[in-house]
Amino acid sequence: MGTLKSYAAHEDQSRGRRFDESKSPYRGEFQRDRDRIVHSTAFRRLIYKTQVFVNHEGDLYRTRLTHSLEVAQVGRTVACALGLNEMLTEAICLAHDLGHTPFGHAGQDALNACMKNFGGFEHNLQSLRVVDELEAKYANFYGLNLTFETREGILKHCSRKNARELGEVGQRFLENKQPGLEAQLANIADTIAYNNHDVDDGFRAGLLSFDQLCEEHLFYEQYQIVQAEHPDLEDRRLIYEIIRRMINYVVSDLIDQTTLRLNELRASSINDIRAQRVPIVGFSNEVHEKHMNLKLLLNKHLYHHQKVLSMMDEAKGMIEVLFDRYMSNPEKMPSEFAARARIHDKHQRRKARVVADYIAGMTDRFAIAEHERFS
Ligand code: MG
Repeated sequence: MGTLKSYAAHEDQSRGRRFDESKSPYRGEFQRDRDRIVHSTAFRRLIYKTQVFVNHEGDLYRTRLTHSLEVAQVGRTVACALGLNEMLTEAICLAHDLGHTPFGHAGQDALNACMKNFGGFEHNLQSLRVVDELEAKYANFYGLNLTFETREGILKHCSRKNARELGEVGQRFLENKQPGLEAQLANIADTIAYNNHDVDDGFRAGLLSFDQLCEEHLFYEQYQIVQAEHPDLEDRRLIYEIIRRMINYVVSDLIDQTTLRLNELRASSINDIRAQRVPIVGFSNEVHEKHMNLKLLLNKHLYHHQKVLSMMDEAKGMIEVLFDRYMSNPEKMPSEFAARARIHDKHQRRKARVVADYIAGMTDRFAIAEHERFS
C-alpha cells in the first residue's frame, strides 16, 4: 500500500467497531474487515448467485463472486493511484453484494414485492444486515463486527425511514452528506466492473451483437483504435482487447478527474470529504455520459432481452412460491430460521423478515432445488 493522503480513511481515526475488540499485533483493522468478509458464509455463496445469467447456463459467465472480485480489483487500482486506503476499498468492494438474493435483480424485485406489506426488501440494506447481524461466526457478538468505515461503505443508498432506524451508519442520508472516498470509489468500481463484464458475457451469450455495441461511443472509439493497430484480430480477441481498453480509458479518467476535484477542494481529512453535498470520486462529464450510454444499451439489449426476461420471470415465480410456503409453514426452513420465525409467529412483519433473510441467503441452485421440493 502506498502513502495515504490526509483525506483517505486512516485507521487511527476510525470510528471503530460496535463491540470493542483488542487490536491484532500484525493486521490492520481494515485488513481484518476484509479477512472476515472473505471467511464469511455469505461470501462463499456468491459463487452460485447470478449476476445476469443464471448459474447453470454456462461456466464462463460472471457470478456475483467473480463480479465482486473484479470490482475489488478496479477499486484497489484506483485507491492506490489516488493515495486512498486500499484495504478498506477492497473490504467494501468484496462485501457490497453480500446481501444479494438468488437470481440477480429479478430475485431482488420478487422478494421486495413479497415483502411489500412487511417493510420491503432491498439488497443493499441486506448486505449491511448480513455483516451486522446474520453471520454467526463469533462467540461474543452476532455479525462480523466490522469497522464503521466498512459498514458506511456497504450502505450505498438508503431511504430516510430506514436511515432513522439504522442509527450512526444511516446518519449521513438524513444530513445529505457523503461517505469517505473509499466508499465512493467502491460504488463507481461496481459500475465499471459490470458495464464491462456484461458486454463480454452478453456478447459471448450471443445476446449482444457487435453492431449494437458499435452504436456506443465508448465501445466504438476503442474498437477503432484496436482495428487500426491490429486489423486482423478474430472476434473473441478483438472483444477482449476492446474491453480492456475501455476499462483502462474510464479508470484513467476517473483517476484524473478525481485528482482534479481533490486538488480544488483542498480537503485535509475524511471529515472534509464527508461534509460535501456531492461525491468527489467521479468521471469527467464526457466519460460519465459515455459510460451511462453503455449502461443504457446493456439495459435495452441485454437485461431486457427476451431470453433473459423469460428466465427472470421463472425466477420471480420461484421466489414467490418459496416465500408463501415458508410464511405459511416456517418449519420447512432449517431449525435456526424456524426457531426465529416461531418466536415471531404473532408478529407477521418480523416473521416475514426471517423468511426474507433465509431466501436472500440462497444460491440460485439451492432456490431451484427448494422450489422443486415444494412442487
Ligand atoms: Mg455489484
